[in-house]
Amino acid sequence: MMFKTHLAFGFLAALFSLQYLNPGNQVLFFILVMIGACLPDIDHPKSKLGKYFKPIGWLFEHRGFFHSIFMLVILSLAVLYFFNWFYTSAIAIGFLSHLISDAITIQGIMPFHPLSRFRLRGFIETNSIFETIIFIALVVFDVLKLIRL
Ligand SMILES: [Zn+2]
Repeated sequence: MMFKTHLAFGFLAALFSLQYLNPGNQVLFFILVMIGACLPDIDHPKSKLGKYFKPIGWLFEHRGFFHSIFMLVILSLAVLYFFNWFYTSAIAIGFLSHLISDAITIQGIMPFHPLSRFRLRGFIETNSIFETIIFIALVVFDVLKLIRL
């Protein structure tokens, strides 16, 4: 999925999470979820985030380890160690929203990489007309959900 689609899906995930988590600082919560939603593509040297961390993209397969459940666990533990549950839940929700949205693409993700190359995949081609339709639908859902909060 593209950067903007990850942001739109992350935003929706944050909106739904508000109902259950009731974070004190909602603005910070949204910012953290959006950061989490961008993080996995750090493994792509040409992505919005990855272009600043090119060595990661050179060393790791795109949609490999950085798009796995293991990275989610390691990242969550690291954030928990340095910050608290508020930061951890927000970053993890964003990260998970990224994995889910990449999993519905044809390329898919390998959730258990590097232990297994089992691939979760869907039928959406990245940067296709279908992704554009999904992006528009997400933005509409985001706005509707925001209005009804
Ligand atoms: Zn990705």
